[in-house]
Amino acid sequence: MSSEFDLIRRHFSRAVRHTDLGVGDDAALLRTRPGMQLVVSTDMLVSGTHFLPDAEAQALGWKTAAVNISDMAAMAAEPRWITLALSLPSANDKWVEDFADGFAACCMCFGVDWIGGDTTRGPLNLCATVFGEVPQGHAVLRSGAKAGDDIWISGAPGLAALGLQHLLGEIVVDEAWREACLLALHRPQPRVALGLALRGVATAMLDVSDGLLGDLGHILEQSNCGALIEDALLPLAPVLVASGDGALARQALLNGGDDYELLFCAASAQRDALRDLSEQLQLPLTRIGAITEQSNVIFLLAQDGTTEAVRPQGYDHFRGGL
Ligand code: ADP
Ligand code: MG
Repeated sequence: MSSEFDLIRRHFSRAVRHTDLGVGDDAALLRTRPGMQLVVSTDMLVSGTHFLPDAEAQALGWKTAAVNISDMAAMAAEPRWITLALSLPSANDKWVEDFADGFAACCMCFGVDWIGGDTTRGPLNLCATVFGEVPQGHAVLRSGAKAGDDIWISGAPGLAALGLQHLLGEIVVDEAWREACLLALHRPQPRVALGLALRGVATAMLDVSDGLLGDLGHILEQSNCGALIEDALLPLAPVLVASGDGALARQALLNGGDDYELLFCAASAQRDALRDLSEQLQLPLTRIGAITEQSNVIFLLAQDGTTEAVRPQGYDHFRGGL
């Protein structure tokens, strides 16, 4: 059985590329670049709440880093450093190695140095803190949306929710699409390049972790405005349509969590630029509606022309959801 220090030495001490002092001392030393603001965010993943207890270790490592890095993307920040605090029921060397490899692979992919953390025994619990940089005053906040702005979403939201429902045995996702759904659930791709490209373009932004409508609600609240979402514009991915259940498809897209796509607002003058950006990044960007004056209300415009007021109902850990 490995000791805490064996695990740290063997699996958690990785080479760093832009850090003065990484793992091994009482604290890490890092230097922010002149003119930059430090951007900091923490996200925790708890067994049974955020992932199934039998989740594959490497994917879990990837996801622990990815959900944190996604918060940097959502601020239009460049992710730079990350720490990992974890509690483990036992020091299973193979599991820890796989987990650490997944975590490190995600960090490497997005230019993030893994600079420290803490390792204790306890129920499986994974908590990372990510540090990023943004030029002073250029972060994109939730509070900047203005009536008349377009509302955009990246990628194909809804896939992760379908993947989870499939794993839970609640639905059967067609084999042709299963892989895409499980990949979305297990290996979310933080939209870092998109976030950086949206500096000076997006007026408000966040990453969708708890469901599109619920998270849109956070922008509306902080920007003191409302939204009109058009059913006809929603990017129902082929997989959702192929599932043959229209209601399920919409539900997954509007309220499913865990996609880590970016939801953002931008002036309508930016439409052409955003279409070009979508092409350049090879990432779908879909305009799904517009910001309205009426505070904190989301209207859904159906294909038959009727509108319905919807309550944002993303996942809430103390109230539930979905
Ligand atoms: P201290 O007792 O001073 O808090 P620790 O013994 O907890 O120090 O940690 C020793 C070193 O190992 C520190 O540099 C710490 O950041 C690093 N470390 C511990 N756990 C992890 C981890 N899960 N990932 C990365 N580094 C870790
Ligand atoms: Mg410690």
